[in-house]
Amino acid sequence: ISRLDLDDILGTINEEVRQRFGENRGEVADYIPALADVPRDRFGMALALLDGTVHEVGNARERFSIQSVSKVYTLTLALEAIGDALWKRVDREPSGDPFNSLIQLEHEKGIPRNPFMNAGAIVTADVVLSNYGDAEATLLEFMRARSGNPEVGADVELAKSERESGHRNVALANFIRSYGNLHNDVQDVLDFYFLQCSLRMDCVDLARSMQYLADGGRCGPSGQQVTSAEGATRINAMMMTAGTYDAAGDFAFHVGLPAKSGVSGAIVAVVPHVMGLCVWSPALDRKGNSLLGGYALHRFTRMTGLSVF
Ligand code: GLU
Repeated sequence: ISRLDLDDILGTINEEVRQRFGENRGEVADYIPALADVPRDRFGMALALLDGTVHEVGNARERFSIQSVSKVYTLTLALEAIGDALWKRVDREPSGDPFNSLIQLEHEKGIPRNPFMNAGAIVTADVVLSNYGDAEATLLEFMRARSGNPEVGADVELAKSERESGHRNVALANFIRSYGNLHNDVQDVLDFYFLQCSLRMDCVDLARSMQYLADGGRCGPSGQQVTSAEGATRINAMMMTAGTYDAAGDFAFHVGLPAKSGVSGAIVAVVPHVMGLCVWSPALDRKGNSLLGGYALHRFTRMTGLSVF
């Protein structure tokens, strides 16, 4: 890593990506105004090395809602609370179906396929609610400590519009509840889920918040051991196999890093033992991953040779 000029590499990626904006591909998520209104020409990328150094380019300090990226952190909290018992309530296989799919739930009797599909994240949210006194405060404190940014907060308006438009999530939660795999009030679970999606952070915050997964569970910004080395390895494995919706295979092929994407156009990734990363650009591809974000990560691992493979 010391042989690489990371600022130079980020600069090249930024230029390549800006040229691609001209082609005007991809659509921003438009199911709520807070996402539909984000200008599609935004692109930011940040790298947080284990020694605390940050490299950044573009709109890396502009905040956005983290959406499904939050599922990494609630999974961490759930595993810390109940350990392997979590896998009795959520499976850990990639799905190949869209993130909000209901299909496998009936076959699997209310056991979601993995913690990164919405169904799995809803069960994970239920586990967090059951095991932490004030789940909202716990998550906020967790995110502030991971990022080293005390200003990380929820976007209450955005969470409200998620709630108003989230009919599919309401259906998923009720369906899972009918199999007895939610233990809290359905509305409370959904409120917590919508809140986690609404957290506002920027690329630098999120790159830092990935450091614990690059460093055997030790969080650089806070110095805390967040999870065991084994826990970090397992979460990385989940990200590699199921973190980028039903494009995880393609992502492993082209990028080769554990990663988690969100519908706001954020993608976080981990280079184990080296750095946490985040890239953000709102226009999405057909499967819901940031179009330019995926391209930027592909170029990054090509230029640096840092794919885990
Ligand atoms: N709030 C979104 C939903 O549950 C998050 C989706 C995503 O980022 O994948 O529909």
